[in-house]
Amino acid sequence: MSRKWYPVIDYTNCAECGSCIEMCSHGVYDAQKAPTPIVINENGCVEGCHGCGSLCPNGAITYVGDDTGWTPPNGVDDNTSCGCGCGGNC
Ligand code: SF4
Ligand code: SF4
Repeated sequence: MSRKWYPVIDYTNCAECGSCIEMCSHGVYDAQKAPTPIVINENGCVEGCHGCGSLCPNGAITYVGDDTGWTPPNGVDDNTSCGCGCGGNC
């Protein structure tokens, strides 16, 4: 990682649906705590990825280090894949 980039959960809006945990294949979230999203591996997050945030139905995910102007789309797929090679499913 060239800079800090990782998700931050707004627990006042999170419905604990577990979608973000299921989506991320980089071990950023603690699977043992599912469906509550707990970030345990900040360094595993792929810089520029908005995968989990784009999926979140409540717009509860934002990112430390994000200066892209991206805003949570509340579950609408805005096709902002991270380019890490996972096909936008990371
Ligand atoms: S889905 Fe993407 S943005 Fe979300 S935690 Fe995983 S790597 Fe980071
Ligand atoms: S996808 Fe959104 S609402 Fe669902 S567990 Fe993750 S942060 Fe919470």
